Amino acid sequence: MRKHYKLVILGGGTGGISTASRILSKKKDVKDDVLIIEPGDYHYFQPAWPLVGSGDEKLDSTWKPMEKVIPKGARWLQAAVKEVDPVKREVTADETLISYDFLIVALGIELNYDAIKGARACLGHNGVCTNYLYNLVEYTYESLKNTKSGNIIVTKPEAKIKGGVSAENSLFTMDDFIKQQNRNIDIIFRSGREELFEVKKYNDSLISQMEEKHIDYKLNEELIEVKGEQKQAVFKNTHTGETHTLPFEMLVITPPMHGPSVLKNSGLLDEEGWVDVDKHTMMHKKYTTVFSLGDSSSLPTVKMGAAVRKQLPVLVDNLIERMSDQEPTHKYDGRTACPIATEYGELILAEFGYERKPKETTFLNQADDKIIFYQFKKNMLPIMYWYALLKGKS
Ligand SMILES: Cc1cc2nc3c(=O)[nH]c(=O)nc-3n(C[C@H](O)[C@H](O)[C@H](O)COP(=O)(O)OP(=O)(O)OC[C@H]3O[C@@H](n4cnc5c(N)ncnc54)[C@H](O)[C@@H]3O)c2cc1C
Repeated sequence: MRKHYKLVILGGGTGGISTASRILSKKKDVKDDVLIIEPGDYHYFQPAWPLVGSGDEKLDSTWKPMEKVIPKGARWLQAAVKEVDPVKREVTADETLISYDFLIVALGIELNYDAIKGARACLGHNGVCTNYLYNLVEYTYESLKNTKSGNIIVTKPEAKIKGGVSAENSLFTMDDFIKQQNRNIDIIFRSGREELFEVKKYNDSLISQMEEKHIDYKLNEELIEVKGEQKQAVFKNTHTGETHTLPFEMLVITPPMHGPSVLKNSGLLDEEGWVDVDKHTMMHKKYTTVFSLGDSSSLPTVKMGAAVRKQLPVLVDNLIERMSDQEPTHKYDGRTACPIATEYGELILAEFGYERKPKETTFLNQADDKIIFYQFKKNMLPIMYWYALLKGKS
């Protein structure tokens, strides 16, 4: 195994694989000089998981063996990053020490179920569900089919998360499911956030959806404890500190999340624990041989694969400039997209940038839910993901 590469990429998820593919297609001389460090056997298309949890997608369509997505010209080290030293330009992955000229950090985000007392032990039992873990997504749909009365509670934390609207996707499709089945179930949404959505136009639409569907929703209510046996969820009001306990038949948890803990002592993270990059160039603020994109980066946008798609060309062009000793000149504007299914077959497509103003790419009003947007998410997005984005096309 070689010990030095021109480019080392940490993480073989959406950001890592798409970056490797794009640089290999744009800069031929890096062939065989790109190393991807990734411990997983499989690569996942995570955006489909909420639809799997609501029974409108098959879990099997959401993964491929990792070796199938590693682009030609890149090497894969199947190991977990343990340490990074950006001064010496070295990475330790399991027992292997690798040096680099340039580094891309695409380590994703870490799920923190332990922040919710009792949650980890309850997951997958007593109707306690999550769509954030591959092996539990099907349990969500099983629980939905088996819930005949009582409350279904869907939660969203205050912390930054990936797939920012996955809770709402589950909420609305589950509401549709129980209405179609004519079941006597109350659908409840509890969010630790100040508002439903950070862009006013889509926030207004979501409020209308909640009201039309008679969904009991409350903001500033953070899930802090799950009592699985008693089927009770405890929430804390983030303003007053008061706690409230709600009974459930089914609980769908989006956990709090945080940046990559393996980089804690590397000097690469900002105060909040994200890789500290310039929000336009994606180059590290201190180490000019380091770039980051996607969920582990400090880029102040909503963490989505759709954001990676827009970050990708900018990062690669800037990296190529840096490889020729130039200043990076390309700029990312914070663009991201949040698809929100409002029922099976209808979807709002929120698109916006750093200034939190809509930047819609169709001639339609994307705050109105439409069949075409749902079909796009369900049928087109997976094709674009596997055959364009992972191949480095944005
Ligand atoms: C339930 C859900 C719904 C979502 N819905 C949408 C949606 O509708 N639309 C959308 O655009 N996006 C959605 N997303 C978000 C999207 O999947 C992510 O934003 C995207 O995958 C980010 O890419 P990334 O490369 O930063 O992280 P990831 O794709 O998560 O990749 C991170 C990689 O780093 C690896 N890694 C972790 N630790 C180490 C280590 N120590 N050493 C080496 N490798 C490591 C991991 O194994 C992983 O392969 C959703 C996500 C989820 C979970």
